[in-house]
Amino acid sequence: MIPSVFPRRLLAALLAVSLSAGAAAPSRVQLPTLGDSVSAVVPLYEERRYGDWIMSQVRGDPAVLDDPLLEAYIDSLWQPLMRAARAQGHISEELGERFAWQTLLIKDRTINASAWPGGYFMLNLGLIAMTGQRDELASVMGHELAHVTQRHIARGIAGEGKNTAITILGTLLGVLAASASGSVDAGIGVIYAAQAEAQRQQLRFSRDMEREADRVGHAVLAAAGFQPSGMVRMFERMDLANRLMDSGAFPYLRSHPLTSERIGESRQRVSLEDREPPPAGLALHSLMAARARVLMDERAEVLQAAAQLESGAREAGPLPQLAARYTAALAAYKLRQRERGDAAVRAARGYLDQVPAEERATAALLLDLLQAEGAALNGDGSGGWGELNLHAERRDRVMLMARAQLAAVPGSSAEQRAAVLEELQTHLALQPGDANAWQRISRLWELQGQPLRSLRAQAEVYAARGDLRGAIDRLRSGLRQSRGAQADQIEVAVIDARLRALMTQRRSMLEEIYPRGIPPGEY
Ligand SMILES: [Zn+2]
Repeated sequence: MIPSVFPRRLLAALLAVSLSAGAAAPSRVQLPTLGDSVSAVVPLYEERRYGDWIMSQVRGDPAVLDDPLLEAYIDSLWQPLMRAARAQGHISEELGERFAWQTLLIKDRTINASAWPGGYFMLNLGLIAMTGQRDELASVMGHELAHVTQRHIARGIAGEGKNTAITILGTLLGVLAASASGSVDAGIGVIYAAQAEAQRQQLRFSRDMEREADRVGHAVLAAAGFQPSGMVRMFERMDLANRLMDSGAFPYLRSHPLTSERIGESRQRVSLEDREPPPAGLALHSLMAARARVLMDERAEVLQAAAQLESGAREAGPLPQLAARYTAALAAYKLRQRERGDAAVRAARGYLDQVPAEERATAALLLDLLQAEGAALNGDGSGGWGELNLHAERRDRVMLMARAQLAAVPGSSAEQRAAVLEELQTHLALQPGDANAWQRISRLWELQGQPLRSLRAQAEVYAARGDLRGAIDRLRSGLRQSRGAQADQIEVAVIDARLRALMTQRRSMLEEIYPRGIPPGEY
């Protein structure tokens, strides 16, 4: 179920209050215009508010990936790009603080990446799966980052004409308002509808904006320590794929037509570079692309095909062979074919000594994690701990979430669960916005016979995704359940206090949106 977050009326009010488009009827929303000049730019706080709203619609969708490993990998590319963009002055202190700078990974095999209002980004797993090395992927991320830092989303896009000051943001809000009125599915459907509408209206960033995003993206990419030629290779890969595939697989090319001018300019920039850093992270990228290949499409027939890759990739070389076996193992585990998965992991380990020395430990860790994941996916809570305990000293989120996954499977002991619970609580005290960690802790509390705590954690899942009403509803239901029963009174008090805090927070949000009084039925 996709939680519906903002009530329809609220969105209509939001549009009416924030944009001078006049009253927005819930069913047929007039496209808002944002001033009549191309230079009209939506203020930062407003763009962020739209972005938050869009994301609150999307975050609960099952198509949004919950995968600590791929999240960590994307973050490891993202952070250097952000640092470089800051150092080069593309992200002012205010922009840095106001915007979210968050990336959502989408389980979708089509190749796409997009920037959304307020500093949100979406990357399809299909894009990760098709890239050959991290620098190619980073070049797309740098380009999208530049669209945000240069405020392209909030600026008029309709060419040079003043009379057609339709904006990307305006189009988005129009489609989203239609979705809130029920004519488009909520969740990721909202995003696809917005993209389809933009395409129908042939709305895209102007050529100047694309050129600017290529130029700024290139500079940021190079300063972040990636190979600037990654951009050229990405263009070549897209060009090739464009000729081989039907365009449906490649939404990115529709919004980013690959002109000979773009390719030429990117080649020119690279030839201007004095020297390139050597390609790095090849094994890690191969394995992460292999993982994306499985997670982007988990239909049984697709997994079955992937599980048969165990005989090896067509490409020669140890890394493609290693990656093919990773794909086969994960697909087999997902199909509940434990033995077959374990066999593919064993075959993958056979390639470890051919992995570049500086990456061997990382590749070995990824295979241990994969085997533990296989145990968890196949309901064997007693298996898998051996592999995880080899890395007991690692305290990062990836390991914590792997331990949490295994601890939730029958066969794990109450002591193992208790230890992971403690670790999760510490993590959440520092990262209260980590919805997926709340999800894990909720499950573990349930297994430990703590239904109220489990329910409170569920409420935090909603709060962390920006759905305050969903969170409030769950806490209220918790209070109802605890009435009369021999409930843990301390936990009841905690729920009560949290409920009050969330209601205060939601009320002040509603007051901002309904300055003339909050309509009955809203809380
Ligand atoms: Zn672009």
